[in-house]
Amino acid sequence: MTDEPASTGSVAYFSRLLIPTLKEAPAEAEVPSHALMLRAGFIRRTASGLYAYLPLGLRMLAKVMAIIRQELNAAGGQEVLLPLIQPMELWQKTGRDVDYGDMLTTVTDRQGRRSVLSPTAEEAITALMAGEIRSYKQFPLILYQLNTKFRDELRPRFGVLRTREFLMQDAYSFDADAAAMQRSYAAMRQAYQRIFRRCGLPYVIVQADAGEMGGAGSEQFVVPCATGEDVIVRTDDGAYVAALEAAAADAPAPPSGQRTGPAMEEVFTPGVGSIEAVCAFLKARPAEMIKTLIFRRGEGLVVALVRGDHELNVSKLARSVGGRVELADEAAVRGLTGAAVGFAGPMGMAGRVAALRIDPAVAAMAEGIAGANRTDHHTRHVVAGRDFPLAGDNIAIADIRTAVEGDTWHGRPLRFERGIEVGHLFQLGDKYSKPLGASFLDDAGTQHDCLMGSYGIGVNRILAAAIEVGHNDAGCILPAALAPFDVEIIAINIDAEPVRQAAEALSRQLAAAGIEVLLDDRPARAGVKFKDADLVGIPLRLVLGEKNLAEGRVELRRRTDKEASTVELARVVGEILKLLADCRHESADSGWHSRMV
Ligand code: ATP
Ligand code: MG
Repeated sequence: MTDEPASTGSVAYFSRLLIPTLKEAPAEAEVPSHALMLRAGFIRRTASGLYAYLPLGLRMLAKVMAIIRQELNAAGGQEVLLPLIQPMELWQKTGRDVDYGDMLTTVTDRQGRRSVLSPTAEEAITALMAGEIRSYKQFPLILYQLNTKFRDELRPRFGVLRTREFLMQDAYSFDADAAAMQRSYAAMRQAYQRIFRRCGLPYVIVQADAGEMGGAGSEQFVVPCATGEDVIVRTDDGAYVAALEAAAADAPAPPSGQRTGPAMEEVFTPGVGSIEAVCAFLKARPAEMIKTLIFRRGEGLVVALVRGDHELNVSKLARSVGGRVELADEAAVRGLTGAAVGFAGPMGMAGRVAALRIDPAVAAMAEGIAGANRTDHHTRHVVAGRDFPLAGDNIAIADIRTAVEGDTWHGRPLRFERGIEVGHLFQLGDKYSKPLGASFLDDAGTQHDCLMGSYGIGVNRILAAAIEVGHNDAGCILPAALAPFDVEIIAINIDAEPVRQAAEALSRQLAAAGIEVLLDDRPARAGVKFKDADLVGIPLRLVLGEKNLAEGRVELRRRTDKEASTVELARVVGEILKLLADCRHESADSGWHSRMV
């Protein structure tokens, strides 16, 4: 493992750097990190979901990238660089041209060739390595890049948290068998823990849904934060932590004994198709309803049943039926049920569709209200196992819903909280190597597909997440490892020659000790300089004034301190080095990661 980066000291002058701070938060800013990154002059918006990085912002990105490089190299990774533009045929070979859908941005060149602006690079790296991997002796192989990604996000928002263009560290591992793939995965997981720890970010590792990536195991690194877009679910003891999309919940116990009760009864429900409308009309609760949803899977149809108060989870359904599903269109629904959309029910469906999936909560209902497969009609007293089957070749009881507050996991209550996904790990298996022909020969000369993993970190998101969890009313409180400079020197009345000389001398001394110094040498009022220093959020600040200097002292304040202390000039360098080491130590040892993981 690596040590802290050997910092090369330097002095930068505020008066010459482009640091266009803003007094007010622009109206477009929705979350604190967005407002502060604009106000502190780190970024500027070019267009929807596109941001330019100004010098301070870029310095921070560079720090994150340096940490990533060190840790991935230490974990055995090798850096490569793939083109941003990738041939469309590669995406067609894996079917992800369809799976990614409108997120893909395509370009057509003068020869009429269609290409994709890389939203990720599984296809490109696998095709590349198909030509390079011959033998098991080349494994393990972990390749990574730090490169621009492009996704045509439906709603770019929250500043650099969700943009169309962003910097991703994407890594790919190649191995001979499942155990070796898991070893590479474990090495990357550990490297990611070190990366986020060194970045000073609190995180939890959550079980995740593999989404468009496919494959088996998947985990996310999430920064707990009230403004985050992701929801994580966990038990109080931390034994179970999952992304909401992937979270499992206990199923209610099925009713004991014979499933009898009154026979089914059709009721006239004119024009009321939605759960809410039916409930209002029949004076029932959503939990008494059986929601019947119809999906298309390839050429076939899939019927999915969830309780009226639950939401179907499309990824879980897709996993349960072994492939991508999408909501069936109106014609397909009419064709199957003989009724308008909103009146589908489970009766008689099993024999007419490719698959029937029943959520355990539906299987556990004593009886329910369902669509009657007849326009403007519903059916009461629908009993699972009596009026529709719970078992059969194409039938399964499977967890296909999203967990809700109040659910339990192994009897323990599930807590819900928000967070920001900063990293994602996947065990891909042969999902990409098979269609793209990345194979190797084992020691007996037999050919096998490589087993892969893929690993991504949102570099820009790290900055925003760090500010989202590190700020106050006055501005950013940056982790030392990410701050554009280690120390800001504020020279009050810089025009006074002794002050200028002392500021220059101290800056040089600090730089010689390997410290990155920002010297605020502007001929501005002290108040302006203090405000900007708070806004930018560099961890340590030294204030040089004529009075203190005359006594051979300077003022020292951490960004997190309310009060400043005075330090003898002769001791400043040592003190700063000690404080910086403490800051780094704190970010490595405190916070959620040690408690939760
Ligand atoms: P999300 O669920 O937030 O859309 P994702 O799961 O689609 O992200 P991955 O494919 O896992 O993203 O990409 C790896 C990492 O890249 C993510 O963990 C995240 O940090 C970052 N990332 C993904 N999309 C964006 C985006 N639009 N803007 C900034 N960073 C992003
Ligand atoms: Mg992800």
